[in-house]
Amino acid sequence: PTLRNPEEWCRSFSHFIAQCLIKDFETRPSVTHLLEHPFIKQAHGKDMALSQQLSTLIHEQQELGCKLKTKHERINTRKTLIIESSPDDDLVNLEVLDEETIIKHLSKRYDELQIYTYVGDILIALNPFQNLSIYSPQFSKLYHGAKRADNPPHIFATADAAYQGMVTFCKDQCIIISGESGAGKTESAHLIVQHLTFLGKANNRTLREKILQVNPLVEAFGNACTAINDNSSRFGKYLEMKFTPTGAVMGAKISEYLLEKSRVIKQATGEKNFHIFYYIYAGLYHQEKLKNYRLPDKKPPRYIENQHGKVMQDITSSELYKEQFNAIQDCFRIIGFTDQVNSVYRILCAILNTGNIEFTAITSQHQTDKSEVPNAEALGNTAALLCIGPEELQEALTSHCVVTRGETIIRTNTVDKATDVRDAMSKALYGRLFSWIVNRINALLHVAESGMNVGILDIFGFENFKRNSFEQLCINIANEQIQFYFNQHIFALEQMEYQREGVDASLVEYEDNRPILDMFLQKPMGLLSLLDEESRFPQATDQTLVDKFEDNLRYKYFWRPKRVELCFGIQHYAGKVLYSVNGFLEKNRDTLPADVVVVLRTSENKLLQQLFSSPLTKTGNTHTKSNNVLDSCVSRCGEGINGIACETTNMRRQTVASYFRYSLMDLLSKMVVGQPHFVRCIKPNDDRQALRFCKERVTAQLRYTGILETVNIRRQGYSHRVLFEEFVNRYYYLAFRAHQMPNTSKENAVAILERAKLENWVLGKTKVFLKYYHVEQLNLLLREVI
Ligand code: ADP
Ligand code: MG
Repeated sequence: PTLRNPEEWCRSFSHFIAQCLIKDFETRPSVTHLLEHPFIKQAHGKDMALSQQLSTLIHEQQELGCKLKTKHERINTRKTLIIESSPDDDLVNLEVLDEETIIKHLSKRYDELQIYTYVGDILIALNPFQNLSIYSPQFSKLYHGAKRADNPPHIFATADAAYQGMVTFCKDQCIIISGESGAGKTESAHLIVQHLTFLGKANNRTLREKILQVNPLVEAFGNACTAINDNSSRFGKYLEMKFTPTGAVMGAKISEYLLEKSRVIKQATGEKNFHIFYYIYAGLYHQEKLKNYRLPDKKPPRYIENQHGKVMQDITSSELYKEQFNAIQDCFRIIGFTDQVNSVYRILCAILNTGNIEFTAITSQHQTDKSEVPNAEALGNTAALLCIGPEELQEALTSHCVVTRGETIIRTNTVDKATDVRDAMSKALYGRLFSWIVNRINALLHVAESGMNVGILDIFGFENFKRNSFEQLCINIANEQIQFYFNQHIFALEQMEYQREGVDASLVEYEDNRPILDMFLQKPMGLLSLLDEESRFPQATDQTLVDKFEDNLRYKYFWRPKRVELCFGIQHYAGKVLYSVNGFLEKNRDTLPADVVVVLRTSENKLLQQLFSSPLTKTGNTHTKSNNVLDSCVSRCGEGINGIACETTNMRRQTVASYFRYSLMDLLSKMVVGQPHFVRCIKPNDDRQALRFCKERVTAQLRYTGILETVNIRRQGYSHRVLFEEFVNRYYYLAFRAHQMPNTSKENAVAILERAKLENWVLGKTKVFLKYYHVEQLNLLLREVI
């Protein structure tokens, strides 16, 4: 019958051949042999046109197969470490420098599976959407202390540069990874940790193993499947790896930022809850322990059930979830968690049960606004797992105390209110549990000795969904801040310094996103302050909030669409986003009624007592160090560093927005003390397809991240500026004898530069201005001498 529709037959046949060719090169069927097949012979004989078409198709597929085979072989070649670098590896070396050329260049490289490209000292990483065999220990060895130009660009080279910088100059380093959601930030962060643990060869193998388990553990709790990325980070993470002065790894510390707690209670269409809930449900199911943890075995709890009726994936039959649960158990064990793990599981299962508590309205003559729990099972399970009394829990969910004129009055909750309290309890439990896990990891990996560290920043990337809420707003503001920091570092500070030092370097224009950041963070009229102000009015509604924004935010970056209710638009550096204000006020207030806290504190579970014994304060940076970057970032927000510290002492009244603002500053203060290294992750397509380079999408990302401008400034500019004194102290070995101790004058700096045979440097009033490649040259020379 297929021969009746020869064209279609032709297509499917050639498709089949292509599949054979692509999938398996070694055992691929010989195409000529296939042509001998009677079926094909018949087709050939029947129709000349068809026969020709078939031959052409086969030929094309054969070529495609060969092309892919070459690629495959090239990867295999890389496996055997025959790697070549080329001047093409750095965009700065391109002769013609325009957007078109850069795109073509990146596209060609991507086709050849060269996913990494330098822009001077900045690394561009295109997501390969397939596993590459370029991350083995052999590769770590290859990049260890190597000259940059000797190997193709690689994430290990960036990690290595940070490590060498730390060891050579005894200075903290910081690797800032940015990019949209799904661009490959988290993967890059893992690879950096992998290479740094390799470099920081501690005698202590267990320590290295512990550090490697940190990411998988926190990501099980903080990552989830979204519409864009199956393993999307729903929190910001700054991981500091601590080293001894000789470069041996000693410990690690994580800071977490702004976990998207609302995901616990509700997920958008096609999205899922945090991974850990699925892992634990599947894991306990297979261990036949669901009963012990009071979880229903017929139907998954509501929080992890697919909310749209379709069975997206049967959680219990997923081998992956089961394996992940085992992996998480190993993580806990290796890092050093002991008997608390059981309490962690109990709390997670309690949260799942909490989601199943339902309320119905009781209408009596006197009271209409009352609710009760009709089915006591979920309530009983939650109470049992949390080691609290079920009656007390019910009471806390369905009523609240109000103190007026010294008198305590009990008011009942409507069904809606009780549901909100229930969900607020789930969010609070999860949020505090997450912070506790992070703090516990920090305690277990803490080192008393002071040393140096390399920090790795992996935050949630820029997001623009069909429907964007408060969470997306915070995520996108954080990305604005990171972009601002990048701009400050690459453009603004650099250009200011040229002028100050009287160095002649042409200025590069770039898109400054400071005004938009001002619009968000300024006090008292920035968007976050307005939101806080409105959150203080009990009568405020979504409508009054969006009106307030419209009345006060007179910026070109803000607009209110005419046809869409309760919505506002923002022109972010990375694109236009429409936000729905629905629920903004509640999410910002993030209140957990005192009645619930009181009940939870009565728990006999030690961990739970700990979680609710005091407001969880973050043990963040004390902001003792500051420098120009931080000052310039902070002064923009109209608050000094002390101002932020004051804000944290006032934890009780703190809204999510004000805590978020504090977190951003805390993060910046950590970042600015180190020497930054930037990794810009780019998503080549939105379908997560390997080898598909979507020109439009990549162009957009290159544009808004200012890559073209970055190439320019890296080519023309002097990315390293060192005081004469510092320069002579650091490099005098290159031109003087160790005991000579030359004075730290401009002349001696020049003597060193000439002796090192560097070219293209210039002198300012107080500093030597170096190109990005000079630092590596100097360090290599220094290593040879010392
Ligand atoms: P982000 O953190 O930027 O949102 P991820 O790092 O989670 O993005 O990457 C999304 C997905 O892309 C990963 O789950 C993985 O499948 C793929 N990916 C990213 N980087 C790499 C890489 N270097 N090698 C292989 N796959 C990658
Ligand atoms: Mg991520």
